[in-house]
Amino acid sequence: MSRRRISILGVTGSIGASTLDVIDALGRERIETVAVTGNANIVGLAEAAERLGAEIAVTSNPARLGALREALAGTGIEAAAGEEALIEAVSRPVDWVMSAIVGAAGLRPTLAAVRQGATIALANKECLVAAGEVFLDEVKKAGATLLPVDSEHNAIFQLVATEGRTGGCAPIERLLLTASGGPFRSWSLEQMAAASPQQAIAHPNWSMGARISIDSASMFNKALEMIEAGHLFGVGPEQIEVVVHRQSIIHSMVGYGDGSILAHLGPSDMRVAIGYALAWPERPALPVERLDFAKLARLDFEAPDEVRFPALRLAREAMRAGGLMPCVLNAAHEIALDGFIAGQIGFLDMASLVEETMARLDLSTPAMNVEDVLAADGRARETARALIEAQRA
Ligand code: NAD
Ligand code: MG
Repeated sequence: MSRRRISILGVTGSIGASTLDVIDALGRERIETVAVTGNANIVGLAEAAERLGAEIAVTSNPARLGALREALAGTGIEAAAGEEALIEAVSRPVDWVMSAIVGAAGLRPTLAAVRQGATIALANKECLVAAGEVFLDEVKKAGATLLPVDSEHNAIFQLVATEGRTGGCAPIERLLLTASGGPFRSWSLEQMAAASPQQAIAHPNWSMGARISIDSASMFNKALEMIEAGHLFGVGPEQIEVVVHRQSIIHSMVGYGDGSILAHLGPSDMRVAIGYALAWPERPALPVERLDFAKLARLDFEAPDEVRFPALRLAREAMRAGGLMPCVLNAAHEIALDGFIAGQIGFLDMASLVEETMARLDLSTPAMNVEDVLAADGRARETARALIEAQRA
């Protein structure tokens, strides 16, 4: 791999930590880090900045600037705080940016990285879910390169690239997104209604941030991923299937018109997708587990239960409605998730709240620009918050 100048948005999170591991595995001498960003974890942010020898570290929380300055004292690393500082830092010229902030909060910083024409390793699926075409137009206009890091989309990207490399140009017939089923795969509706955040966070296969772990339990993660896949690979909701595959060994599949299905297999380790995105178009050697098929013995598949997991149906409805409805789904879901984590609403109430917010806001007209997206995001949040308040009153 040639030398790369990089920045990392969300360096203190789970994807951020895996990115640091991959950089160590590939050799830190090949990487020059410009900006790293975080939110509340100032110690982790300062440590990452020092470890990488970054030029600047930014916390999105303006109240923590003093603490960050103190943590970086004597290192020569610049400290800054707030969203505008974050955008300025990620606008500094680099070859590659890891976009790993959680939630729609990642949209404006990621767009700043897009606008400088860098290669974007996109972990933050919310950018594509909320801003879809507007985001992709910006990528095209800036001549930026988008490499999906979400494991399913990275898998499909690899499969499509493989088909292309052999000279193939067949259209995709269908995408099969695999889902682990999460910790509640075999729970009853009654059990799910009483589930606590702690139970929802306990993912069986992947180690991830708290929010995406809960989203795996509700399948809202898969719902967002359906919308993400639609944008990345230009397919409609009728071409996207979700298959529950509890071992998380097949990361996703692509079906072609001759009945062939190509599958991507590997360990459940995000470092594979991150390494692929960092070394692309090369494929790096990585110190991850090698699959042992004799030990695996079997792979299981089942259809998702859309009664217990209505998020999948809501994603299809949002995709069919189009326009800003996926943005409404995402924003309402972020508020519902906050409410569940805070103990204000139950686990199953999250989907009802999203459905009710979507019913109240008819925003199926296409967004013209980022301002339209941010306005719809704000309206959906307000509506969802009001619904939680009404429910608690
Ligand atoms: P995480 O919660 O572990 O980390 C989130 C990062 O975002 C942290 O660095 C945090 O400081 C930062 N952050 C949080 N709120 C912020 C705000 N308001 N402004 C700026 N920064 C903020 O999350 P994660 O699991 O690393 O996931 C990051 C993104 O990657 C998410 O979009 C998630 O859906 C996606 N993703 C994660 C995984 C995984 O294995 N963890 C897999 C696929 C996709
Ligand atoms: Mg995923």
